[in-house]
Amino acid sequence: MKYTGTIYRPPIEANTLLLQVTVGCAHNKCSYCTMYKDVRFSTKSLEQIEKDLQEASEVYGDLRRIFLINGDAFVLSANRLKPIAKLIIKYFPNMEIITMYAAIRNIMDKTDKELEELYNLRINDLWVGLETGHEETLKNMNKGFTLKDSYEQLERLNKAKIRHNGILMLGSSGKGKGIEAAIDTVKLINKTKPQLLGVTTLGFFDGSKITEDVKNKTFIPATELEVLEEEKKIIELIEVEDIPFYGSHPINATSITGLLPRDKEKMIKIIDDSIKNTDEKLLNGVTKRNSL
Ligand code: SF4
Repeated sequence: MKYTGTIYRPPIEANTLLLQVTVGCAHNKCSYCTMYKDVRFSTKSLEQIEKDLQEASEVYGDLRRIFLINGDAFVLSANRLKPIAKLIIKYFPNMEIITMYAAIRNIMDKTDKELEELYNLRINDLWVGLETGHEETLKNMNKGFTLKDSYEQLERLNKAKIRHNGILMLGSSGKGKGIEAAIDTVKLINKTKPQLLGVTTLGFFDGSKITEDVKNKTFIPATELEVLEEEKKIIELIEVEDIPFYGSHPINATSITGLLPRDKEKMIKIIDDSIKNTDEKLLNGVTKRNSL
């Protein structure tokens, strides 16, 4: 397998085959993100993709799930994705799920018919960086789409039967706005019904716009206590049935994983205990998060 640049994938895709179809991120402008600053966006050739698939099929045999990397692989047009999906099915005929990171913008670029065609080629699951349902925060993050876009495009995905895993970012609204952001975010979740939630926390990495904003005092970070309270509020308000909540990303203040609403009380207790047992100075400060 030939990989170019640093590879990122959701923690729970640790056992999934990673097939590189793009290098870097086509957007590369989110205010907090430095993941692909060192690499120019490009696409992998079909020839290289086929070589990788051939090698993977010899090594791994029969696979049911594959994750296409990199940062926003769903940026590829439907005309680029369809032959890739066909090659995957050629080498892994029993493949059930082709998944990848997708931005809301990438859904907008595709027609309803194209989404349906991609679903029929087993591109039936996407990791969508929602981050928040708080309009002002979304704008500050420079994600390149509005909250209205999120509602509309997730609805289109649902109609095409393409499931989505929503990625949320705690702390992204900054000091004093976590609860307000949690309420807005849960409105989006309850309406658009992701099949799963992956929850991370805003980090301040060297070279990001938001780190500069902190230095210039135009963005005041949420404290660890506020981040935990935001997460608690999200868990409290979610009404989607049987939705796995993965708050175990290493960047998070506390590791919380469970199925909602079944584990709601247990998960809230973990947060309450965490607040109770953590040093007040730490709770009221901002922990340095060094890497994703
Ligand atoms: S957060 Fe995702 S979409 Fe935004 S710049 Fe980073 S990789 Fe690209």
